[in-house]
Amino acid sequence: MTEHATSDWRHKASCRNDPDLDCWFASAPNNTRAQYAKAVCGRCPVRLDCADEAFAESVRGGIIAGFHTEFQDEWDALCEWLGRVGASPARQSARRTATCSQCGKAFVTKQSEATRCGPCKQGLVDAGPSKKRLHELRALGLKWRELGELLGMRENSVQTIVDPKRPYVLRETEAKIFAIAPTASAVKVA
Ligand code: SF4
Ligand SMILES: [Zn+2]
Repeated sequence: MTEHATSDWRHKASCRNDPDLDCWFASAPNNTRAQYAKAVCGRCPVRLDCADEAFAESVRGGIIAGFHTEFQDEWDALCEWLGRVGASPARQSARRTATCSQCGKAFVTKQSEATRCGPCKQGLVDAGPSKKRLHELRALGLKWRELGELLGMRENSVQTIVDPKRPYVLRETEAKIFAIAPTASAVKVA
């Protein structure tokens, strides 16, 4: 839960209209109010986007993605959940680097049984190829609106995929992007 009110994922945030938003700023990491907020985060469909943004911008304030970021241990846990380095040295010593069985990338974890990185567990893939393909389709003359229609997404949702800050995209979305065949009828001359 951060300040980017215009980011598309925020519209799907479970905390968005919660009547008890103060719980996200509970005074202790595990009191009743904090536990309530963490439970909501646990069911939130944009939890990974939320954590990613907090990590990328080093946002440390209140409960984000189920971790009370004002407490170092919980911040470390958020970084770990994302498979990123950023935790304290003490915590890092308990970590190991593993290779994701799905994407083949190295990731950091403290769990001995973890075989997949956080994004793969969430059905996400590196957004790089999708960004490149969208730019190619745009260069061929497709408008954002048309891309949205072809992908079954809103125009600004498609635009957020090419946001440089966005590291991941859903695997299904990537498949849909690569399924777009720029035929003569689909491509309009700009
Ligand atoms: S993960 Fe939690 S803090 Fe982040 S948007 Fe969802 S409910 Fe809000
Ligand atoms: Zn992976």
